[in-house]
Parts: sequence; C-alpha cells; structure tokens
Amino acid sequence: MQLQRIAARDGWTCWLCGGEVDPDAPLDSPARGTVDHLVPRSRGGSSELANLRLAHRRCNVRRGSHLPELQWPAEWPLLMGTHLWTALARLAPRPGAAEVVAVAPLAELADAAAGWAVERAECFVPGGWEAWCEPWSGGPVAVWLRRPCDSAPGDAGRPRHPEP
Ligand SMILES: [Zn+2]
Repeated sequence: MQLQRIAARDGWTCWLCGGEVDPDAPLDSPARGTVDHLVPRSRGGSSELANLRLAHRRCNVRRGSHLPELQWPAEWPLLMGTHLWTALARLAPRPGAAEVVAVAPLAELADAAAGWAVERAECFVPGGWEAWCEPWSGGPVAVWLRRPCDSAPGDAGRPRHPEP
C-alpha cells in the first residue's frame, strides 16, 4: 500500500506539523495518516513518490492546495533571487545539476542566502542539498544550489517541518 510505503520512508512523521502519525488511528480520525502532494496536483504536481509526503488528515485539509511559503527574506537586498519553487522542481530530479538561485552584492549576504536556500530546500525536498558562492562578473556574488549525485530524490531521509 502506497501510504505504508510513504509513511515508512517519512518515519511516520507528518511533514506539515512535524508530529507523529499513529498507524493505528481510526479511518475517520483527523489524526489518521494521509498522502499529501508536496506540489499540489492542481498546480501540476505529480503522483510520483518524490512529490508525496505523509501528513495527518487534519493538516492535509488545512493546507488545501496552497504551496508552502518559499520567498526570499524581504529584508535582504539581493540583486537577483529566483523563484525557488521552480528551481527546486528543476533541480530535484537532476542530481548533479546546479543553478544560480541568487546574486548578492556582498559575500556576507551571499553566505546567508546559501544557508537559507539549503535549509528551505531540505525542508521541502530532503536530499543533501548544497549551496556555494562564487564571484559573479566582478563585484557581486552568485549563490549556486545543487543536489549531489549520490542522493536519490525523495528517499533521502525524513522531511522536516517548515518554520511556521
Ligand atoms: Zn500534522
């Protein structure tokens, strides 16, 4: 059964609230485990394992078909910040491929942005993401994001709960 498989992979932990999911919860219970789509079907999300997460029924219902928040912190004066969801969707199925996800005016901000990008990526698509900074045509600093070749999409550990 698909639910059992996803629940085992996700350690019987709800990816939305981080709480434990009881395998023996009654069928009609709000605490029952359900299969949630990371990128909702209504937004083009697939039904492949990499896009599926274990969630309590109540958490799944509350979330509806919203995408989780993935906005760069507004107070950061980035010269460029990609739409991170789109970048994750492109990079997740292609281990080893890298993209510039942000360009910062200063190395210090680029470091912060690299850390933030990895943290957010891990939250939504766990899999050993890494980010690094490189000078970008002179002054500014580019932040690259990549999922290393040795990580399997969707199978690399337990999803963690996003910050509320
Ligand atoms: Zn939950």
